[in-house]
Amino acid sequence: MTVYSGPVFDMAVDQFNVIADHLEIPCDERERILQPKRAITVSCPIHRDDGTISVFEGYRVQHLLTMGPTKGGTRFAPTVDIGEVAALAIWMSWKCALVGLPYGGAKGGVNVDVSQISKRELEALSRRYMQEMIPFVGPRTDVMAPDMGTNEQVMAWFMDTYSMYQGQTVTEIVTGKPVFSGGTLGRREATGRGVAHLARRVMDVLGIKPVGATAVIQGFGNVGSYAALVLHQLGLKVIAVSDHTGALHDAKGLDIPALMKHASTHGSIAGFSNELTFDPAEVLTLACDVLVPAALERTIDGGVAENLKCRVLAEGANGPTTPEADRVLEKRKEIFLIPDILCNSGGVVVSYFEWVQDLQQLFWEEEEVMRREYQILDRAFDHMLARSRADRIPHRTAAMAIGVEKVRAAKATRGLFP
Ligand code: NAD
Repeated sequence: MTVYSGPVFDMAVDQFNVIADHLEIPCDERERILQPKRAITVSCPIHRDDGTISVFEGYRVQHLLTMGPTKGGTRFAPTVDIGEVAALAIWMSWKCALVGLPYGGAKGGVNVDVSQISKRELEALSRRYMQEMIPFVGPRTDVMAPDMGTNEQVMAWFMDTYSMYQGQTVTEIVTGKPVFSGGTLGRREATGRGVAHLARRVMDVLGIKPVGATAVIQGFGNVGSYAALVLHQLGLKVIAVSDHTGALHDAKGLDIPALMKHASTHGSIAGFSNELTFDPAEVLTLACDVLVPAALERTIDGGVAENLKCRVLAEGANGPTTPEADRVLEKRKEIFLIPDILCNSGGVVVSYFEWVQDLQQLFWEEEEVMRREYQILDRAFDHMLARSRADRIPHRTAAMAIGVEKVRAAKATRGLFP
């Protein structure tokens, strides 16, 4: 009997079982590694602008306490449930272990459609959610960050609410804050930059020259837009972009800086151009060199995987590829997969830098942040590729095996408690 259910949680379990079989982990040890340590559900009542009261359900799952504090984003979306949050927390654990950060995975979320609430209601909900979480989080216990539907402003409200209860400013309680409220330079760009950096590394491996190569991006939020921008700066033509409102396509390459400006003013890519509108259902299967899914989970299923026409699949989103699609990709060796826990790990790497800087009250230049981010990503990439080649296993299996192995070793040395 478990409180966790749903397709995203089932996917995290399926993926773990592949790794556990590969690593020959005995059955009695598997549950201990996979089962989240804590799950918290809270109800968050807020006053609506029309004077009524609405209650939103919020969650936080702390997957494992073995490696240090837990760390993970907070998602505000109508799809959020405890199973999805648990899956995202589990993936965070493998990701942090893979890149060598001193954290276990966590994730949180509120079941809300942020497009349906006002800015004042969003602030009330953000503050209420953090207030409900105060007994369970802390700079040495569990550190939050942004995810889908949350941003720097929401992190500033979280930090402020926590700080007011402590009677002092505690910037290190969240990462992804505005720079002038204790955030780090380079965090906003970190995830997308990391995705583009690793895509560039793979292009080198495959002998694809960036100038004139093509990219397609699904999702134009924090991750998708900065990945698009850096790929554009590297000389790639970003020929298609989609978001929840639709898609744009231009074989000559979209003007990404102009599109970013439009999206930040209007909240989406809608209205950027009438001539360039395109069917969003066809975005993932467009012919291109680099495909970046940077929106929701499970957008690449078996059928889509059969029809992919990219050379590099750079997973900006968490869990965009289903296990069924993974089995298809195993046969399609012409596609180089950069698995999510590696590809989008630049975000948590720079969140870690932000936490370290906040604890020390010593802040770094952006060049320092980027240099260290790329150094960690390069090391993890080399490690993943070497393991995949040595054991003749898919890239996702290699990346997750490295993460799971580290967690398993830490649990073996510490004992049963964490
Ligand atoms: P965001 O809220 O900033 O952006 C999400 C984007 O996805 C928006 O452009 C939205 O319109 C689009 N979208 C939603 N539904 C869509 C659909 N059906 N089709 C196409 N596009 C759709 O979120 P984000 O922070 O960029 O996160 C995106 C993904 O990256 C998530 O899976 C998240 O977990 C993952 N991620 C984010 C970070 C980070 O630092 N923000 C780090 C690691 C992983």
